[in-house]
Amino acid sequence: MDCIFCKIIKGEIPSQKIYEDELCLAFFDIDPQAPKHAVIIPKTHIASLEDITAENSGLIAHIYAKVPEIAKKLGVNESGYRVVTNCGTDGGQTVGHIHFHLLGGRLLGWPPG
Ligand code: 5GP
Ligand code: ZN
Repeated sequence: MDCIFCKIIKGEIPSQKIYEDELCLAFFDIDPQAPKHAVIIPKTHIASLEDITAENSGLIAHIYAKVPEIAKKLGVNESGYRVVTNCGTDGGQTVGHIHFHLLGGRLLGWPPG
């Protein structure tokens, strides 16, 4: 399967890792949209939020359970941050492997563009 994030998981594409365990991987976004911008992905290929099921939702819960630890590693746990998942064309999703952007290090605007 030609998936950039699966290649990052396998080490076929290099990444700057922030956190890793048996279920998920967090690395710095190649095109950061904030001073601190991590991408968190499950190690299992799930294409998008549209593919979350009762069977695989535990992986998503696991990722959210690790968010505070990853935010602390980025130094944004006290200043605050945002976790965002883009879904589909209108949502702005460009990589078809579900991922969670963790953005911080500046005051983030709302609503998003
Ligand atoms: P999306 O646009 O799908 O919500 O987010 C995909 C993100 O992956 C983008 O922010 C993009 O900069 C990032 N990205 C795409 N390819 C690579 C890559 O090869 N390495 C890293 N570190 N980030 C990538
Ligand atoms: Zn994948």
